[in-house]
Amino acid sequence: MYKTVLVPIDISENELTQRVVAHVEALAKLHDTYVHFLTVIPSYPYYTTLGVTYPAGLPDIEEMKRNTSAAFTEVIKRFNLPEDRIMPHIMTGTPKEQILKLADSLDADLIIIGSHRPSATTFLLGSNAAAVVRHATCLVLVVR
Ligand code: ADP
Repeated sequence: MYKTVLVPIDISENELTQRVVAHVEALAKLHDTYVHFLTVIPSYPYYTTLGVTYPAGLPDIEEMKRNTSAAFTEVIKRFNLPEDRIMPHIMTGTPKEQILKLADSLDADLIIIGSHRPSATTFLLGSNAAAVVRHATCLVLVVR
């Protein structure tokens, strides 16, 4: 039933990720679940629309990917899950778009997402979480 679960991770938000951990573990214990973790490195569409190549001074995307990959591996270790049931994905772009796209291509049964950064108190749902709730074609579990 919950065979394919997608867990989008903002690697800069440890506290938010921590809230999600217990729910992912509990679900995976009950079902033969494959947990796909996704972290999205935001791209700089502004520069590409202008047709400008990245000037020196902007973060080197390859270096960002390497750093992200190391941090992402550490975050995933905090989930107590069988290694052969874990799949990491790193993408660039807009988090909400990439989350929805991967959910579709995996034909995910469920997305488990944190509601918003604990520091951002204005909204009950962050912009990525809101877009996922609104547009996903599968179940979404919002962890508050
Ligand atoms: P806020 O606007 O408060 O940061 P978001 O909607 O961006 O709230 O974050 C809620 C959830 O969205 C996070 O728990 C995470 O699951 C997902 N998310 C946010 N940013 C990313 C990202 N860069 N990569 C993958 N998932 C993300």
